[in-house]
Amino acid sequence: MIDLHSHSNISDGLLSPAELVEHAATHGVRVLALTDHDDVDGLAEARQAATLHGIQLVNGVEISVTWKKRTLHIVGLNINPEDRGLKSSLARVRENRLERAKLMALGLEKAGIQGSFEAASAYAEQSILTRMHFARFLVERQYAKDTKSVFKKYLVKGKPGFVDHEWMSLESAVNLIVNSGGVAVLAHPGRYDIRRTNMLLLLEEFRALGGTAIEVVTGSHTPPQYVEYAKYAQLFGLKASQGSDYHGKGISFMEMGRLPALPSNCTPVWQDWAHINAIDVN
Ligand code: AMP
Ligand code: MN
Ligand code: MN
Ligand code: MN
Repeated sequence: MIDLHSHSNISDGLLSPAELVEHAATHGVRVLALTDHDDVDGLAEARQAATLHGIQLVNGVEISVTWKKRTLHIVGLNINPEDRGLKSSLARVRENRLERAKLMALGLEKAGIQGSFEAASAYAEQSILTRMHFARFLVERQYAKDTKSVFKKYLVKGKPGFVDHEWMSLESAVNLIVNSGGVAVLAHPGRYDIRRTNMLLLLEEFRALGGTAIEVVTGSHTPPQYVEYAKYAQLFGLKASQGSDYHGKGISFMEMGRLPALPSNCTPVWQDWAHINAIDVN
């Protein structure tokens, strides 16, 4: 069992890096990538826990990107968490997130919802502030019944808590990942509001910039989308990745250890990773 996309409370997950690794191990995962949003600070703790629980940890990150006015996520796998360029760029992204969170709170205030910045910050503790932290506050205050509906009502484009934020460019994200020794993976392509023409443009550009793979099997895709994105991967000679995008109980699209196999026409992104192929992942 290979799971190459997950979150700890270093970003918007519920479990600490060590707890997440333990959770993965008890759910049958043998290879886990921790891919926190815009932060690599959980990897050292996760690595220690991985040794303890006998699973392989892949150093990962999920970088937010703005491409043609849309937000995309690029996962970096096998990155070097000590890379100075990567670390300093991510630190800047995290600072900008703080400003964004203040603006989100202002928007919610105008809609009559007080105290969201303080509450989201309390949920986030020392971590970055994400829309997920605001979602948790809004659900707790019963502004919506669950995370999914709270996003729809308050946190997406056109809604009071949404802020049009400029993330880093696709080129910068791919370069940071590649220059730190990693491979760039386009996360959950089926989740973006992109029509076919733009999807083709995006995949072309992503590959030209040095992107390696796209997520085919992910907690964010439906089974028909596994087939659809396997075809896109094949069309562009891109490899395929798989990951649950686990965030924690109640706020995840998928539990760990439940990922179906990649469609047979895919080349796995880990195909030439000796350290993974050395272990029996079945
Ligand atoms: P941010 O990076 O601050 O914009 O927060 C985005 C995070 O919110 C994503 O990584 C997901 O964890 C979560 N998220 C985004 N859209 C949804 C949604 N529709 N339902 C549930 N969670 C979502
Ligand atoms: Mn998230
Ligand atoms: Mn994502
Ligand atoms: Mn994610």
